[in-house]
Amino acid sequence: MHPAATTPPSAMYRIPPPTAGGINEPQECPYCRRTFSCYYSLKRHFQDKHEQSDTLFVCEFCNRRYRTKNSLTTHKSLQHRGSSGMLKRLLKTSAIKNVLGSMQQQHQQQQHQHQHQAHQQLQQQPQ
Ligand SMILES: [Zn+2]
Ligand SMILES: [Zn+2]
Repeated sequence: MHPAATTPPSAMYRIPPPTAGGINEPQECPYCRRTFSCYYSLKRHFQDKHEQSDTLFVCEFCNRRYRTKNSLTTHKSLQHRGSSGMLKRLLKTSAIKNVLGSMQQQHQQQQHQHQHQAHQQLQQQPQ
């Protein structure tokens, strides 16, 4: 039983409903104000640009999204080699630290520490 452990952080954005005119009318993305010829175009744009419910790891440099930490790490080592100094500056100065990827990492670290403490307590209390 792990209540929240396997659930990814809830999506930051939800896809907006079609405008009153219907799904074949031009639609505006409420998040970036771009307009699209129909609801399907908006939906595709939304899933591409805003929806993050099933992508847990986001590249801090180019905002590419990956489902596994491993593929993100591989991408960064190939595409952004030697940029870790820049990464630290970005993390300090912008909202990028809010990306789901780093949230997930922190969460895992906290869980690990918690498990560690529980384990030590067990050892300190012999039956
Ligand atoms: Zn948009
Ligand atoms: Zn990247």
